[in-house]
Amino acid sequence: MDKNIIKKIRNFIGKDVKAQNESKKLIVVIRLILILVIAYILINVFFYIPKLDFVKALFYVLFLAVFFSIFVMSYHFRSITVLWTFNTLMIVWIWSNVHMFGWNIGVQHFLMVILTLYFFSSYKKYAGKILYAAFLCCLRILLFYIYHYKEPIWPLSAGDENILQMINTIAIFSCISIIAFIFSNSTQELESKLVNYNAMLEKQANTDALTGLYNRRKAMEYMDYLTSGQAGHSGFCLCICDIDFFKNVNDNYGHDFGDEVLKGISGIFMEEMKKGNFAARWGGEEFLLLFPDCNGDEALIKLEKIRQRIKEMKIKKDDYEVSITMTFGLTEYDYINGLTATLKEADEKLYIGKQKGRDRIVF
Ligand code: GH3
Ligand code: MG
Ligand code: MG
Repeated sequence: MDKNIIKKIRNFIGKDVKAQNESKKLIVVIRLILILVIAYILINVFFYIPKLDFVKALFYVLFLAVFFSIFVMSYHFRSITVLWTFNTLMIVWIWSNVHMFGWNIGVQHFLMVILTLYFFSSYKKYAGKILYAAFLCCLRILLFYIYHYKEPIWPLSAGDENILQMINTIAIFSCISIIAFIFSNSTQELESKLVNYNAMLEKQANTDALTGLYNRRKAMEYMDYLTSGQAGHSGFCLCICDIDFFKNVNDNYGHDFGDEVLKGISGIFMEEMKKGNFAARWGGEEFLLLFPDCNGDEALIKLEKIRQRIKEMKIKKDDYEVSITMTFGLTEYDYINGLTATLKEADEKLYIGKQKGRDRIVF
């Protein structure tokens, strides 16, 4: 079929409800079900017309008009009004069919369509849903007792009964599938949106906005994890590092340029601290690096490479090019005195490094 026609049909069926606070999904589902029911009644009409059974065909045409009117209604009334009209007239349709053709026609299963539609139609009203389910259940039992053994007005031949049973079964299964498909899809869509949104929020809460590195909060959380023994690590090394004379960079080239320097350094940390190691912006122009499962000598080798890369890095702006250096205070985790003491020791080593002339690792 022409793509344009498909688009037009989609737009027509998917036309939004007028009221702002109503679900579009419900009205679309009702319209789809109505199209199915109208097609199903048309099949019935054509089933009887060739047999010249005009009275029965007329019976179907009457309901055809009824369901068509509800379809038209769906473009002008509130979805809840359309839903209740549809449900009520569907019950009338079921009752009339069973009354005329007998229990074996199988139309009573349309009660399941009404039930499913009602349950998906609103998010609240639990008591209402349970009551309505009980009502439909009683209605079905009542229909059974009235019509199961009663001779119908228009008894069906065995052949007709088989065909109508089949048509009804297909129609009912299709209706329930439409409802389940659309509403389960939207639930799953919503769920996956929520999962992604939560993941994004968690990432935001753990990330430093400027550099993209982990922030201090996440660093504390990770250190708590490492020191709790949950990670099963034998130990780790901790390093606090700080940019040398960073204030001068800001003063001479501007704060924005200073930000570029922070980003450049962070890029190097990200590349070098990939495999199992951890880098965070500890605050301002200070960073915290963690090396799980490393002793001091191993961490020192890695840090030396980082120090060299930072020293060689050139940050360019307009006509000038700036190089910077960093000083590092490295220490192994102190099991006996704990995390606070380890952090203090790393800080003291950093201070010693600054005093001894900067651009060095103190271990
Ligand atoms: P030292 O070698 O002793 O560390 O000297 P320093 O100039 O780096 O030390 P100081 O602590 O005096 O200066 C740190 C500067 O870092 C001051 C502050 O304006 C700057 N700074 C902190 N956070 C940011 C930031 O997010 N962006 C920029 N551009 N500058 C920052
Ligand atoms: Mg500082
Ligand atoms: Mg500094």
